[in-house]
Amino acid sequence: MNKYDVIVVGGGHAGTEAALAASRLGLSTLLITMNKGKIGYTSCNPSIGGVGKGQLVKEVDALGGEMALAADASCIQYRMLNSSKGYAARSSRMQIDRKKYNEYILDKVLLQENLEVAEDEVKEVITSGSVCEGVNTSGGKTYKAKCVVLTTGTFMNGTIHIGLEHSRGGRLGEEASVGLSENLKKIGFNVNSLKTGTPARLEGKTIDFSKMIEQPGDELIIPFSFLNEKVHLPQKSCFITRTNERTHEVIRKGLGSSPLYSGKITSTGVRYCPSIEDKVMRFPDRDSHIVFLEPEGLEEEEYYPNGVSTSLPLSVQEELYRSIPGLEEVKINKPAYGIEYDYVDPTQLYPTLEAKIVSGLFIAGQINGTTGYEEAAALGLMAGLNAARKAKGEGPVILERSQAYTGVLIDDLVTKGTKEPYRMFTSRVEYRILIREDNADKRLSEVAYRAGLIGKDRLNILKEKKENVEKAFKWLSEGKGANLKKLKDPQVSYEGIEREEAGAPHLSYYEKVQLEVDVKYSGYIEREIRKVKKFEDLEKVRIPEGYDYSVIPSLSNEIKEKLLQVKPVSLGQASRVSGITPAAISVLLVKLKKDRELS
Ligand code: FAD
Repeated sequence: MNKYDVIVVGGGHAGTEAALAASRLGLSTLLITMNKGKIGYTSCNPSIGGVGKGQLVKEVDALGGEMALAADASCIQYRMLNSSKGYAARSSRMQIDRKKYNEYILDKVLLQENLEVAEDEVKEVITSGSVCEGVNTSGGKTYKAKCVVLTTGTFMNGTIHIGLEHSRGGRLGEEASVGLSENLKKIGFNVNSLKTGTPARLEGKTIDFSKMIEQPGDELIIPFSFLNEKVHLPQKSCFITRTNERTHEVIRKGLGSSPLYSGKITSTGVRYCPSIEDKVMRFPDRDSHIVFLEPEGLEEEEYYPNGVSTSLPLSVQEELYRSIPGLEEVKINKPAYGIEYDYVDPTQLYPTLEAKIVSGLFIAGQINGTTGYEEAAALGLMAGLNAARKAKGEGPVILERSQAYTGVLIDDLVTKGTKEPYRMFTSRVEYRILIREDNADKRLSEVAYRAGLIGKDRLNILKEKKENVEKAFKWLSEGKGANLKKLKDPQVSYEGIEREEAGAPHLSYYEKVQLEVDVKYSGYIEREIRKVKKFEDLEKVRIPEGYDYSVIPSLSNEIKEKLLQVKPVSLGQASRVSGITPAAISVLLVKLKKDRELS
């Protein structure tokens, strides 16, 4: 029987980042996944990033992960979303060549030192008391490890729905993972199910693009990774069309055979990514919905109709898609489908993503109740890092809400839990002006370096960036600071100054953003920093593990119960648990201070 430091179960976006992080920290790591060829596979849309998600990808990059590099290597269209809004709202999105993305991640995993890959299905987590010891597989193998990271995605008890027919599956054409869910329930986890769905894949040769609006990418392409200066693949357009009254009629007529509307699917789906039948029924006054035709690859002739996910039967799907302008003759290569799968209540996890009831067991990705490649990658990386640190006997790394989108994501999940697939948005983040895409490296490189996830070379790149911004700031301030005053004007960009003024230092895109934010928003930034300081004061008050709330008579039983369930690690986290009042926080603060004085 083999023994490892860390075992990662699942080779999706969470699992690959977790396994790479642990093995790169020098720990012997085993990645067990059901299908080796599908390592890093993108189950749904052929794109990476988006509003709130682009920030996560940048953070994964700053923390030494692979998602940004893989997206750059397979980028076939780049767009900066919300570019007309302030820097805090801007998020990058790339269309990717699905095959190339997959190959990139697969290569990284297979060539990684200290990382072994086994194709098998984990059926059981082995525990001794409340300590995780390893896993048992359906192939009859037992693998032991100091820590295990579960990242099963949409596979645990996965049920695929197409019309009223359903079958077991983790993704179309792939087996579901059966057994693990029951095992986790037996251990004491609250396991429930969620639902998501994906559109059909359409044969490009049968699409009439002349009836659609072409949507090319941005001319200025900003790579996801701070290590890259450009992307290398040729770029491809998306196309826009719309549903119409006929489409909606087809959907309404087909509802009797919809698993969503006939009561077959009872789990909650992704609110922000509804199926087309949901959109039509929820917004009856809308006579059309937008559809983006996204290329699946550079040479690939297949297209992904973003906006038309459905679980209606194939015959209805055909009629539905063919009612859309440009798709009159379309051939469906793979049908759309809905999927129900099991997830674990994330409030049963610490902010390290380690389970509260099983020491050494970490849980990350879609199994945490999230949706999205980017959320999964960020969670996976943090779980892999913390599992590795635990295996080495080192303290955890926890990112704060004021430090990273990843910090907000984890804190939301472990503090508030989720009853529907959780998706990241900029609006979930309190300190948006401080934590932006452009400064993810500035915020996180030092953390990553100290944790051993990146080398000194990356700190040097950051240092150079900082020096360039400072040099330009100094130049702007020269003379009577006329150029500095000019840049404070919201209508003026540094790029404009650079063009007009000889001698203006040349800056890269992100250096320009950094400089403009520093100059234009210094007042806001200072105010935000003051707010963060106050917030940090609460975060710094740690609550000891296993804290006995029963000795505080002025806390109501309801509040005590909630605190016992969530087990917050700090007063800051306690203040975000729903139902915990400011008065309860004051009582706790006084008690914790008293405890400290007595100890
Ligand atoms: P996955 O990428 O699902 O990877 C799970 C991995 O675990 C797989 O490699 C699998 O083989 C392995 N595995 C599972 N169980 C076991 C086991 N017991 N033993 C060994 N290996 C195991 N995201 C969006 O953002 N928007 C959407 O609209 C959207 N729609 C989706 C629709 C469908 C039909 C599907 C399937 C997914 C959709 N997603 C969507 C979700 C997106 O694909 C996931 O969020 C993302 O892939 C999650 O990454 P992950 O690493 O957690 O899991």
